[in-house]
Amino acid sequence: MEHDVIIIGGGPSGLSTALHLQRIAPHLSHRILILEKEHYPRLKLCAGGLTIDAEIILERLGLDVNEVPHVFADDIHFDFEAKGLSVRVPKRHALRVIRRDEFDNWLAGKVRELGIEIREGVTVKNVIPQPNEVIVETKQGILRTQVAVGADGSNGVTRRCIFPKDPVYTARVLEVITPSLPPAQMIETMAKSKQMKRRGHAYFEFSPVPNNIAGYIWDFPTQIKGQPMRCWGIYDTNILAGKTRPHFKDPLAQEMGRYNFNLSDHEINGHPIRLFSPENRLSVPRVLLVGDAAGTDPVFGEGISIALGYGALAAREISKSIQRGQFSFGRFRSQVARSALGRTLITRWVVAYIIYPIKWRWFHILLWRGIKPIVTIIAKTFVLNWGRRL
Ligand SMILES: Cc1cc2nc3c(=O)[nH]c(=O)nc-3n(C[C@H](O)[C@H](O)[C@H](O)COP(=O)(O)OP(=O)(O)OC[C@H]3O[C@@H](n4cnc5c(N)ncnc54)[C@H](O)[C@@H]3O)c2cc1C
Repeated sequence: MEHDVIIIGGGPSGLSTALHLQRIAPHLSHRILILEKEHYPRLKLCAGGLTIDAEIILERLGLDVNEVPHVFADDIHFDFEAKGLSVRVPKRHALRVIRRDEFDNWLAGKVRELGIEIREGVTVKNVIPQPNEVIVETKQGILRTQVAVGADGSNGVTRRCIFPKDPVYTARVLEVITPSLPPAQMIETMAKSKQMKRRGHAYFEFSPVPNNIAGYIWDFPTQIKGQPMRCWGIYDTNILAGKTRPHFKDPLAQEMGRYNFNLSDHEINGHPIRLFSPENRLSVPRVLLVGDAAGTDPVFGEGISIALGYGALAAREISKSIQRGQFSFGRFRSQVARSALGRTLITRWVVAYIIYPIKWRWFHILLWRGIKPIVTIIAKTFVLNWGRRL
């Protein structure tokens, strides 16, 4: 067999799996193949917010993410109706914002420098686990491997091949990129200082929750080819999908309007995010799922750090199974659940099911404005800083 490991998808989860495998078992480098249907730098709809946990995992891999164009948000605001809690990280930025075409291209370059092959423009159509191998059917032909890793994102083919009937929990998301300031004619009619104050900060606004949108609106600083821009979007876990909800664009249009941006002047793009649930199965013999294919953070849909974390866990599991010549992967789900990554995912799943179905305004006012120290302690202990413990 030409390959020990075929990784389907060259996003953060697939690339992280390869980088971690190379660290643990360098002799495998030439036996790993990544199949990516697009060509780098490829577009990926994403706001590009990199949390501290993503940075910790990259640092531990010996990578310097400063090489990727970025902007920093000095603090993150969690607001309900424009007022709330602001979080800073002592002596560093609260959020680094990258563009995914640039970030993924950079990470793929690091993988290649280590001698791992990435085949671009190869679309996987089918993944068929057999007792002694996995058959990976692509549009370009058939490949065989000891182990396949499904790192092909929320709509990936691997999950559909191995768990065709399992339930799928997905969030809906819309994203809009605008210049950093509103058009000049609108700025004249507004408090300019309010706009300037918002620059360089990341905002999460939870005001859509009482209207059955179980999520938030975001407004992040970003850059495109060095030009300061803003990335806006709306995220809905779909936990309240059965209830009456406004048109999905409306709360975003309203929020942007408050800051003198007109949503209809900008291109809107959407993409689902597959969410973590304790029900999600993560493996069958010889095949593992990672990243969005496995399921990501239900509270925020934050998935880059989570994808990098899944890669670290999958690499450990694969290297052990290659050593032992035993590929059942029966314990992968419990290994994930017991890890720091699993614990944060379970906590976030619980938090999402507590805070999003509660529609009372007073509850959200209390949560984001009234009990700041408690929310901050819970976030720092159970939600963030898991990367160090991975
Ligand atoms: C609008 C939006 C905003 C977001 N904002 C943030 C944010 O600010 N911060 C954050 O942390 N997360 C964010 N996320 C989530 C984040 O983008 C994902 O969680 C993350 O990309 C998951 O990484 P992944 O490697 O699992 O999957 P992906 O990044 O989706 O990578 C999958 C790869 O597989 C390839 N592929 C797919 N199918 C095949 C196939 N059949 N054959 C070969 N290759 C295939 C794809 O081309 C792609 O390169 C956002 C998501 C959305 C939709």
